[in-house]
Amino acid sequence: MADKAQQTIVVDGLALAQDIRKQLAEEVSQYASQGRRAPCLAVVLVGDDPASASYIKGKQRACSRVGMEAIEKLLPATASEQEVLQVVNDLNHNDAVDGILVQLPLPKAVSAYNVAAAIDPEKDVDALHPTTAGRLLLGEATELAACTPLGIMAILKHHGIEQEGANAVVIGRSNIVGKPVSLMLQRGNATVTMCHSRTRDLQSVCRQADILVAAVGVPRLVQADWIKPGAAVIDVGVSNVDGVLVGDVDTEGAMGIASIVTPHRRGVGPMTITMLLRNTLAAYRARTGA
Ligand code: NAD
Repeated sequence: MADKAQQTIVVDGLALAQDIRKQLAEEVSQYASQGRRAPCLAVVLVGDDPASASYIKGKQRACSRVGMEAIEKLLPATASEQEVLQVVNDLNHNDAVDGILVQLPLPKAVSAYNVAAAIDPEKDVDALHPTTAGRLLLGEATELAACTPLGIMAILKHHGIEQEGANAVVIGRSNIVGKPVSLMLQRGNATVTMCHSRTRDLQSVCRQADILVAAVGVPRLVQADWIKPGAAVIDVGVSNVDGVLVGDVDTEGAMGIASIVTPHRRGVGPMTITMLLRNTLAAYRARTGA
């Protein structure tokens, strides 16, 4: 039986995201009052996947709410890699565009790596260019970093979660979440263990975690008795189970055990989009000298 003696804070990622967006909006409006143009994000969508289309709309809406421009480039699912690279190249050379995001997944015929590598690193707001990712790996300063991991780090900071010397366990090793968040936690002097589908006795590894990040996409993988009392639990996963969105963590079970837990709604998700806006503003500042 899990020990249930802890007051657990359910992280309000939406409220935190709104606070940060308010600050971003104030900065954008100051630039406008100085007669400067608005920061601009370009989103590229290849194909007509409804989930991707809805993510793109969400990103555009978020941009306009903080006073940023958003332009969209739509290509058919049949587009060749060359055609996608041409669109990226045009956006690289468009001086009015500060950030470029190519929505994943891409059709099989288009290499996500080649597309990311074609983005001007100065405009790489999704932080998937080898230079941006490599800077994080090598511990070099970088204005742009992966959005979901940045959001996770902001949540940990907001809740005063100590990283120095802490045991951090990250489940999932994707390029957009697992790998970059593990590097950021290392930079915060945590001792990081990366787990994945071949990890043996995942439950025992998770039981050691002072900070547990689940970025898997397996509904309620992390059960109450996987959680160390007092751990900070970050649930990144989102799965659709019979039309209902479910996270990687049994949030109910975590109550009374974890110190903080992010809910699968209003948790990490709003912070991810907020960090995309943050990156776009950072790219704008760096490019325009604002
Ligand atoms: P992914 O889907 O590319 O890969 C999943 C990872 O989980 C792999 O590294 C795999 O090894 C690992 N894995 C799979 N099954 C496992 C198991 N049974 N035990 C341990 N590890 C296992 O990863 P991703 O793109 O980071 O997405 C992960 C989840 O996070 C998805 O549900 C995705 O929708 C969600 N996500 C949410 C946000 C957000 O902002 N809320 C952002 C990105 C991803």
